[in-house]
Amino acid sequence: MQELINQTVTDAVLARAKELLSNGTVNRVIGWEKGLFEDDQTPRIFTSVEELDKNFVYDEYSVATVSKYLIKETKKEGKILAFLKANDTYSFNQLVKEHRVNRENVYIVAVPSNSEAQKGKIHVVYDEIMDSDGKITSKKEESQEDKEAFNKERFEMVAKLEAMTADERFAFWQNELSKCIRCNACRNVCPACTCEQCVFDNPKSGIAQKAAADSFEEKMFHIIRAFHVAGRCTDCGECSRVCPQHIPLYLLNRKYIKDVDEIYGEYQAGEDTETRAPLNTYKTDDVEPSIVYQRDVTQGGIN
Ligand code: SF4
Ligand code: SF4
Repeated sequence: MQELINQTVTDAVLARAKELLSNGTVNRVIGWEKGLFEDDQTPRIFTSVEELDKNFVYDEYSVATVSKYLIKETKKEGKILAFLKANDTYSFNQLVKEHRVNRENVYIVAVPSNSEAQKGKIHVVYDEIMDSDGKITSKKEESQEDKEAFNKERFEMVAKLEAMTADERFAFWQNELSKCIRCNACRNVCPACTCEQCVFDNPKSGIAQKAAADSFEEKMFHIIRAFHVAGRCTDCGECSRVCPQHIPLYLLNRKYIKDVDEIYGEYQAGEDTETRAPLNTYKTDDVEPSIVYQRDVTQGGIN
């Protein structure tokens, strides 16, 4: 893996965690400790400097995002410190927008991304930002370079799938989704999947079993999940990252993101904490895509 962060940043993150815990700004820290595998550090809550010294690790393998844990954590007493990478700042913003986290109860330090997939535009939710030299700055401008990195080639494969015939596309997804073992990891990690009771856990739903019984069920799980996060998915990449079957779930999510962009105008979930999402807003002049527009995928969009 290409090294994106260095020892200076690793040391600076730990030092800042200890400082903010010691001076009482926060009463606990969400960070990472060594996981079962060398390349998969695990999120954990730390409540003392001793624990931080012993187990805290922020390196190129601390890739798991933490914003989803803040739903529960920010309901507790006192402030928690969270280190957010660029992709996690989007998810956090979206959770604030949906009133799922209590912004008052968390202190955010935006940190340099430690993997290519998690690069992007750091957003306005942070209390302070750490640069790639490990220095704390209050600078809030967005980096155009980072923005381009986030958008670059994002929809290339989606466009290829759109250009396929319906049969080809069906075969592509059937092949991919038949690998699914219904471990639910994609759902559990997703910061947009925050229902306290998930439809898939309802024993009366007929789809609550772990392994999909047939190919209809395989597709239903993924289509329902994709629809549930449509317009709210931040493209954080976590679902694809954790899938043990390496199913390219990001293609489903990006298809919806591309459609929303083309039909309602460019929209990035989690870009801010206030604006209403296109799919949550009703306007009398809203487009009715299936009636008003015809897709012309060869031209890359709508005509
Ligand atoms: S993580 Fe992969 S294997 Fe597990 S339920 Fe999701 S798609 Fe299926
Ligand atoms: S990329 Fe996946 S995990 Fe991230 S918000 Fe979208 S659906 Fe959820």
